[in-house]
Parts: sequence; C-alpha cells; structure tokens
Amino acid sequence: MAPVVDTLRLTAEEAKGLLERGELTAAELRGAYFDAIGERDPELHCYLRTTEDAEGEGVPIALKDVISTKGVETTAGSRILSGYVPVFDATVAARVKEAGLSLLGKTNLDEFAMGSSTENSAWGPSRNPWDPARVPGGSGGGSAAAVSAGLAPWALGSDTGGSIKQPSALCGNVGLRPTYGSVSRYGIVAFASSLDQIGPVGKTVRDVALLYSIIAGRDPRDSTTAELPEPVRLPEGDSLAGVRIGVPTELNEAEGIEPGVRDLVRRALDLAADLGAEVEECSLPRSVRYGLSCYYLIAPAEASSNLARYDGVRYGARVDGETYVETVERTRDAGFGDEPKRRIMLGTYALSAGYFEAFYGQAQKVRTVIAREHAAAFERFDVLVSPTSPTVAFRLGEKAANPLAMYLSDLLTIPSCMAGLPGLNIPCGLSEGLPVGLQLVGPQFSENALFRTAHALEGALGFDPVPERLR
Ligand code: GLN
Repeated sequence: MAPVVDTLRLTAEEAKGLLERGELTAAELRGAYFDAIGERDPELHCYLRTTEDAEGEGVPIALKDVISTKGVETTAGSRILSGYVPVFDATVAARVKEAGLSLLGKTNLDEFAMGSSTENSAWGPSRNPWDPARVPGGSGGGSAAAVSAGLAPWALGSDTGGSIKQPSALCGNVGLRPTYGSVSRYGIVAFASSLDQIGPVGKTVRDVALLYSIIAGRDPRDSTTAELPEPVRLPEGDSLAGVRIGVPTELNEAEGIEPGVRDLVRRALDLAADLGAEVEECSLPRSVRYGLSCYYLIAPAEASSNLARYDGVRYGARVDGETYVETVERTRDAGFGDEPKRRIMLGTYALSAGYFEAFYGQAQKVRTVIAREHAAAFERFDVLVSPTSPTVAFRLGEKAANPLAMYLSDLLTIPSCMAGLPGLNIPCGLSEGLPVGLQLVGPQFSENALFRTAHALEGALGFDPVPERLR
C-alpha cells in the first residue's frame, strides 16, 4: 500500500524529504498528483496537457505553457501555436530536469501571457480553487491555481508585468518575479523581452527559494543573464531586526484598492514592526502615476515585434491562401485572439514613423525615471511593501469585456517590473473569504533579503494556504 500523501498540504520541501528518506517513491508521489489532477482539474482547468510518462526521480513540477519543452506541445495559450512541439528544452526546463524534477504537465495561461485572468486563453479559462466562479488571476493562473489546489507542489510561471505575482495573490500562495537577468529566457515564448522573467510559485517562501536556486544564474544562451552575486540561501528565523521597510504611499493608497486588501496589508506591516522591522512611509509618485501607461506602450511595442514570427510557416497552425501574403494574413487572423491583436496594433502604432518618439521614445524615458525613483527609495529601505493586487479574485466575465479595467489589475505590480526589480508575493489573510496578497520589492539581486523578510512574516501571519472549500 502506498503511503497516503495529502497533496493539498504537502510542500515541495517535505516531498523532497519523503523521497530522500525513501518513505515514498517518485512514482507514488507522481501518482498522488495525477489522482488529484483527475479529481479536481476537470473543474479548475489548470493544465493544458499532462505528461504521465515524463521521467525524473525528484519532486514533480508543473510548467507554464510559455516554456518550451522538448517533445511536449507548447502553445502559449494560443491557437496559432497549436501542434507546435519544440525540439529543444528552454534553459529553465533543462535545469529543472537536471535537478531531477519530473514534469507533471503544462499549465494554462492568457494567450501569449497577455492578461490578468486566464480568460484570454484560447483553450478556455482556469478557475480559482477558493471559488471556481472566480478567476485565478493571470496570465499564469494555471500554475498558481495548480499549486493551491494540490495539483502540483510547485510550478514555474513567467512575469512581464505581474503574471506571477498577481495570480499568486489571487490564489493565496507564494510567487517570485526574479530580478531581470537572473533567470534565462532562452526557449521562452517571448512577449516583451525587456520585461519577461521566469520565476517560481509554491506554497511556502522556502519552496520558492529552493526552486529559484535551481533555475537562476547565467546562461550563455541568454546574453541578458548574469551570475548571481551570492548563492541562494534558504530563509530561516523569525526576526526582522534591522530590516528597513518602506511603505510607498501611492502603492498603498491608490484608488481602487479594496478596503479589505488595504487593512490586511496594514496588519501585516504592524506584525513586521513587532518582529523588529523599522516601518516607514515613503513615496514613489511617478512610478504609480505613469507606470501603467508606460508599460502599455513598451510591452505592446515589443510584443508587436516578437509576434511577427508567427507567419504559419515556421511554427504551429497555418491557414493556406493563394499567395504567401494571403497565407500569413489568414493564419494570423485565425490564429491570434483579440488581446494579442489589440497589442500588435497598439505596439505597431507606438513604433510607427512619426509616432515613435512621442510614444515609444517617451515611454523609455519614463521607464528610466521609474527606475531612478526606486533606486532612490532603496537608499533608505531594504524592502518596499504594498498590496500585490488592488482587489481579491474577481468573477469570471466581470472584466473580460473591458480591457482597461483588466489592465488596472497590474497597477501595483508593474512599476517594479519596469525597473527590473525582484518582487515576491506572500498571502497575508482572507478578505470576503478570498486570499489577499502582499508584495515585497527589493533592489536588484536582493532575493535573499526578500526571502528572509517574507519567511519571517509568513511565520507570523500563519496563513493556511489550502482553500477553505477543499480542507
Ligand atoms: N497582465 C499584464 C498584461 O496583460 C501582465 C502580464 C504578464 O506579466 N505576462 O500584460
């Protein structure tokens, strides 16, 4: 008889211990996850495909479907990539394999990682394990929901403007968007290359730190990567003595932040002070005011260029026409959903002759201002804290018809992304029975400090990451 494992509660670290001590075989552990997937994924739709025959003797893992996996279809949630089976592994996929982790499957996302709810997936939305009538966030809703529902011990996501942090906030788990350049983008389906970063999602800060240590570091195949300045340390301890926490007013008092969200973040800051942290208000006036507009010029501009490669010739699906041009037109018309089309148009416009300086050029300057504003704050503080998402998980369909309302979901996550900074979400309580996420942002390559701060807070908060309806 295989020992019973409760995948809802099991952390990756615990799973690793069970395997190492021989108390469980890798096959038994995988079996437990596939049982949970069979039971709950028909409702939640976290996975686009599962990989029952994948190899690996370590802890299993789920990968967001923007990560190329050799021999396993990779669609980025888009019709235009249906049938695309990569002949190589993305560096992060190769690194998790080298570490012995075994693939459970590929998780759902908004098409090309564009969105905040997974409703833009060509393959249908995922649902929030806390309340299936609500979204799990996006774009990496599949990975976040899978971890919360016990359908994977941990997962990788990608974050351009909030796609790891925001879904983790809405699903009540821990998600890290690493420092830009600390994790390879080789083999990732590109959205906006100057912003895209791969990062871990897990139930605990320690799990996230462990997975980060597996994927991070220089990759000769991605020239934007750097060696980490210090090894990743698994956080320990419960003191925050000496940690200087800045509380940016604009990120904590922004219009649209629900009172329940604001109050829980306040309460967590009080706890941080009890643990010995110095907590002080500060200001990032232009980052919040201009962050979103700046992002929605730069990200679509880069997307319009990156998505030019989908011509029906090189990857995935094709709709034939009489001529080459007609084939490309028909393929792109049928293959892309509304959101990628909207971004391609926005981006092409922002880059077009005569408008380039006024839009793209101006946005690049504003981006520098945002980076400097953060750098100035880090002269006084080690960590900046705010809510991750202004709201708890919203209902499916609630924002789907209004792209601008959807874009506001990332108001608080985007500024630090624009500045290339690491950001970590941890759950800090329930409002209306739904998880609220707290965002910690640090200077470049300060992941160890973020882990330490978040780990101490996590202990003091005592949040139960298992969705109430599944307990
Ligand atoms: N929701 C944001 C967008 O739609 C961020 C997405 C992401 O980080 N990939 O662009």
